[in-house]
Amino acid sequence: MPQHTPPDSADPLLAVDRSELDIDRKARAKRPMQPVVKEEAQKRLTNFNEIYLLYETEIACIEAGRCIQCPDPAPCQLACPLGNDIPTALRLTEQGRFIEAANVFRKTSPMPEICSRVCPQERLCEGSCTQGGGPNDQHVRIGKIEKFLLEYQYAMEGIPLGEVAPDTGKRVAIVGGGPSGLAVAEILRRKGHAVTVYDANPFPGGLLIYGIPAFKLEKSRVVEKVEQLKKIGITFIPNTKVGVDIMLDDLRKQYEAVFIGVGANVDATARFDGADLEGVYQAGEFLIRANVPLELQPPALAAQGKPDIGRRVYVVGGGDTAMDCVRSSLRLQMAHGYDLAVTCAYRRTEAEMPGCRAERENAREEGAQFEWLTAPVRFIGDEHGKLSAIEFVKMELGAPDESGRRRPIKIEGSEYTVPADTAILALGYWPDDTLGKTVPDLETHDWGLITADPETGRTSLTNVWAGGDAVHGPDLVSTAIRAGLHAAQSIHLYLMNET
Ligand SMILES: Cc1cc2nc3c(=O)[nH]c(=O)nc-3n(C[C@H](O)[C@H](O)[C@H](O)COP(=O)(O)OP(=O)(O)OC[C@H]3O[C@@H](n4cnc5c(N)ncnc54)[C@H](O)[C@@H]3O)c2cc1C
Repeated sequence: MPQHTPPDSADPLLAVDRSELDIDRKARAKRPMQPVVKEEAQKRLTNFNEIYLLYETEIACIEAGRCIQCPDPAPCQLACPLGNDIPTALRLTEQGRFIEAANVFRKTSPMPEICSRVCPQERLCEGSCTQGGGPNDQHVRIGKIEKFLLEYQYAMEGIPLGEVAPDTGKRVAIVGGGPSGLAVAEILRRKGHAVTVYDANPFPGGLLIYGIPAFKLEKSRVVEKVEQLKKIGITFIPNTKVGVDIMLDDLRKQYEAVFIGVGANVDATARFDGADLEGVYQAGEFLIRANVPLELQPPALAAQGKPDIGRRVYVVGGGDTAMDCVRSSLRLQMAHGYDLAVTCAYRRTEAEMPGCRAERENAREEGAQFEWLTAPVRFIGDEHGKLSAIEFVKMELGAPDESGRRRPIKIEGSEYTVPADTAILALGYWPDDTLGKTVPDLETHDWGLITADPETGRTSLTNVWAGGDAVHGPDLVSTAIRAGLHAAQSIHLYLMNET
């Protein structure tokens, strides 16, 4: 269980147990929530920039001063996959000690500038804030304060380089430069080990670059993080798919330890007639071509340019990826000067949608339409093999399934057809089974997920660890980082011959 860890300051105010703080918690709880300012929807649609404007300094202090400083263990800290000491960071913010506050986040998180932008705080820290919940939800806006602090620090001193221990002479290979791999790389490098990151893509970052759109996470923040890692001595080898361009067994011989963080990035295949028509996209490819700067795209995708967006777009799915596709499509339609016509078709109702509520709201503000209890039956093409219509069927909800959500059931005879020129299938992601297939002794399960100890990340192979989406399936940036931090600790002990 994470415990309150005061920052390195000798400040007695920070060193005390929070339960003994002389503050009026009732008065704090009555302070009104400070609004978050977003770019106006019509303006947002004209570009792919982040939509949330930064808190003004004074507003950040006021909002941080709404925190009632729950005694240990604070629910927000417990809900954070990284165990960030949020109450202490907010206390420092309230006092205007922004860099110290930013460094409280850095203590437990290797990339707080990224987490502050992409974490679904409504489900994590903010969702567990004692001031939240109920119709008059008044949670402290932790994510927006964290982003303010990190941007403040960045403007003042850039991303601090941090310390690196003297070289140990040990070498570690990281397979996959997503958040889990980058977290392992940074921790082990700081402990003095030589670290090399292999990635199949032209640039590290994983889904931070090749998935999450720039209107949620500016790509420059990821590029700067990678620059920082290069400066502390981490080597990156791009365009190298382990299991194809180089074998895992070779890495196991060349390096004392190997971490696998290859994610789960294979688009779930569609079993519908017409899914191969021109105009029907898989979410993964669509988001890369729509969002990633050309120079960072894999050459095969870069050669195709932006997706050929139509005037009538349907996105199939209900998760965050679906919402990212909807909002990217709206921006592409705007760029073409089309009337906005992007519909998200989901087979359950809004109440069962797995994605983040705030992102759905953003999509609505930007003009997205929704059709609930609707599933595609087939995609219909014209004489040129291009999508021209989609046949849908209406659904109703039955008994709960294994996910706890009510199972959608087809209503026989309710099929209907709509004209459409673009369909994007955001049906989820599967693991890539390349490594499992090319290394028979690497234990895998469920279509290629790597079996690893949940605490240490150790796999069935002696000097190989794994973590992130490749182990637990598609999840979150913060949980991938957490897996990386745990594995890094275990790898370090192994390298130093400690238990
Ligand atoms: C569209 C989309 C939006 C998302 N939005 C959010 C969000 O807002 N907030 C949030 O918290 N999470 C979000 N997620 C989930 C989050 O991005 C992932 O959970 C997280 O990135 C997983 O990190 P990872 O390190 O396990 O893998 P990844 O980020 O997938 O990185 C894996 C890396 O491994 C590389 N690789 C794969 N195979 C090989 C190989 N054989 N050899 C070498 N390299 C290889 C890949 O090129 C990639 O760089 C989103 C996911 C998607 C798809």
